[in-house]
Amino acid sequence: MARLETWTSKLRRTNAKSDFQPANVSPHRRKQRSFTIRLWVVRHARFFEWFYEKFANLFLFLHPFWKAVGYHRAEKPVTFVERQVKGLLFDCRMCGQCALSSTGMSCPMNCPKQLRNGPCGGVRANGNCEVEPDMPCVWVQAWSGASKMQTGTDKIMAVQKPVDQSLRETSSWLRVTAEAAQEKESVKS
Ligand code: SF4
Repeated sequence: MARLETWTSKLRRTNAKSDFQPANVSPHRRKQRSFTIRLWVVRHARFFEWFYEKFANLFLFLHPFWKAVGYHRAEKPVTFVERQVKGLLFDCRMCGQCALSSTGMSCPMNCPKQLRNGPCGGVRANGNCEVEPDMPCVWVQAWSGASKMQTGTDKIMAVQKPVDQSLRETSSWLRVTAEAAQEKESVKS
């Protein structure tokens, strides 16, 4: 458990140098193509919710493996894969603290204002963003996706914490797994 904590604090220190990225900078620059995939994912939010649950369980099941390899060693390759997969599906910005399961599978970091609790008051009448008029508002999409999910709109109503910039460019998958494993171990002891 102590090793997991050390790994998390080490990650924070390593990433402190490259913490800030302007809203329009993404490892996967926004394109119309991305909107199409992103919107398709939101339309199928219920499936992705189900799939994510299975995927998270598999990652947790592999905890002994991550522990043996070392979470800090797994960080780089897993982050690479996470960036590719989530970049394609969600136009992920690698904030390192994924909120997709609370936001109807619509990534809140695509909001030009980077709102973790939205929408703002500037949604256009056609449901698009006031800053990027060609882009559907990520929070309108979030509500639509959340309405399709098994958990419904309960999670989207919960207030999200501000983004911790020190976690940028780190793997959300590994962090969530490490936290869940830690919780499981503390319940046992
Ligand atoms: S909430 Fe963060 S980790 Fe999740 S898809 Fe968006 S940028 Fe990526």
